[in-house]
Amino acid sequence: MNNLDPEVAEHPESLVVYGGIGRAARNWACFDAIVRSLQALEENETLLIQSGKPVAVFRTHRDAPRVLLANSNLVPAWANWEHFHELDRRGLMMYGQMTAGSWIYIGSQGIVQGTYETFAECARQHFGGTLQGTITVTAGLGGMGGAQPLAVTMNGGVLIGVEADRSRIEKRIATRYCDVLAETLEAALALAQEARDAGRALSVGLVGNAAEVLPQMLAQGFVPDIVTDQTSAHDPLNGYLPAGCSLEEAARLRAQQPQELVRRAKAGMAVHVEAMLEMQRRGAVAFDYGNNIRQAACDEGVAEAFAIPGFVPAYIRPQFCRGRGPFRWAALSGDPEDIRRTDEAVLQLFPDDEGLHRWIGMARQKIAFQGLPSRICWLGYGERALFGRKINDMVAAGELSAPIVIGRDHLDAGSVASPNRETESMLDGSDAVADWPILNALLNTAAGASWVSLHHGGGVGMGYSIHAGMVVVADGTPEAAERLERVLTTDPGMGVVRHADAGYDLAVETAKTHGIIRPMGEQ
Ligand code: NAD
Repeated sequence: MNNLDPEVAEHPESLVVYGGIGRAARNWACFDAIVRSLQALEENETLLIQSGKPVAVFRTHRDAPRVLLANSNLVPAWANWEHFHELDRRGLMMYGQMTAGSWIYIGSQGIVQGTYETFAECARQHFGGTLQGTITVTAGLGGMGGAQPLAVTMNGGVLIGVEADRSRIEKRIATRYCDVLAETLEAALALAQEARDAGRALSVGLVGNAAEVLPQMLAQGFVPDIVTDQTSAHDPLNGYLPAGCSLEEAARLRAQQPQELVRRAKAGMAVHVEAMLEMQRRGAVAFDYGNNIRQAACDEGVAEAFAIPGFVPAYIRPQFCRGRGPFRWAALSGDPEDIRRTDEAVLQLFPDDEGLHRWIGMARQKIAFQGLPSRICWLGYGERALFGRKINDMVAAGELSAPIVIGRDHLDAGSVASPNRETESMLDGSDAVADWPILNALLNTAAGASWVSLHHGGGVGMGYSIHAGMVVVADGTPEAAERLERVLTTDPGMGVVRHADAGYDLAVETAKTHGIIRPMGEQ
């Protein structure tokens, strides 16, 4: 229900949470049946969800997950959008994206620290540690992409975010993620250049189509300092608006000539990536932001598409080696005071972590809650279990007014196989090995997470990823304390061993430091 809160979901009326057509339930009848089943569920029963439809309740045991979810999984030879859409049309499947179908999406905040960390690392590597005095160009200000304006201004920079749907920009402005809306490229450039020259942070949402606007920027001789993209290019039928096409025209084509829409969307992506490559050649720092646009462009004949590096190998992987990733929690009370107290607690637990202190300070000032008050911060192996126990103690002591739900994105250290994104360019070439996320889901189930999910196709689309999610509830009981200790150890532990197994020294060190047993690890 929180996933579908109107403040949280992009299109709640059609059960779409974010990321193209990422849904929380297959249809409204399934939604109602899920709610009924959960209300009747005993504490030793487990509800099974198959692509957004509740299909069974089995007797398990108290420490087992209350819900197990499998979303959008297809046998590999059938794992493409065409087959998926066919099943979707026949009411047999649903696209779960990552946290949409696994019920732990918390609005744009869920991604904003990851986006902030990515731009911060980009600033460290290329701009002396700050984005002040730089202009970033991106596209797509949807559920996740909408975090980009705030992440860039938090790093002191200026952003132009090209977005085809005006209402998306208006939503980002209403939720304080974006500063201003511009109707024309000229207006956006004037605002951006003035702010850059004054050293001021500013985000501008520009109404337009990236496949048209980026070439226009080049034609005018404008080259940004950084260029990236977060349109829903992973889904050419529903997520990428072709050049020269209005939203209404796209809706008509989607219903009547879907193949024509896909063809035009892919052609637009090729033009878009060509423009990104040209900006890169002219000196911009370019990176792919996890929507598989390079693959689509490559398929369309843009041979150099992968000259644009992916953001994980470029900026994030060292964090994964330490089991760090987007840990998040939501206050079931609905009371922002509960999050304020957990903010204090995490700061006290880790007094020497400067990055964490800077992040929580900024998040408190700048992030407006959407739906249930919630927080995200990147924590590593050891830290997550410590903080989870602390939250449970606080619930037990009555310092928090209701239980806290603890979860994470599927984009995490040990829970995803996605060769064009999280596992791009692995040291040992194991990019496409999907045993790891499956082991992650099995292990978190064994450890007693409250709900566990295994999905296909999130982030980068059908055929390109397999990933797992987990959520564990801190209700203040001693049993929850044990479950939290176990799950918040196994889950980031998978990230450490996955990267250690691939040969990353930092992960090997982390495993040794924490005494993680690896039977064939370096002695
Ligand atoms: P979304 O569907 O909510 O938003 C996509 C936005 O792109 C929409 O608002 C749409 O109007 C806009 N758009 C589509 N075509 C356009 C065009 N040609 N020009 C300008 N705007 C256009 O999706 P989201 O949740 O914001 O996710 C965006 C993409 O980023 C997805 O592919 C998703 O898988 C990926 N993603 C990346 C990360 C990450 O950490 N890098 C995390 C989550 C999602």
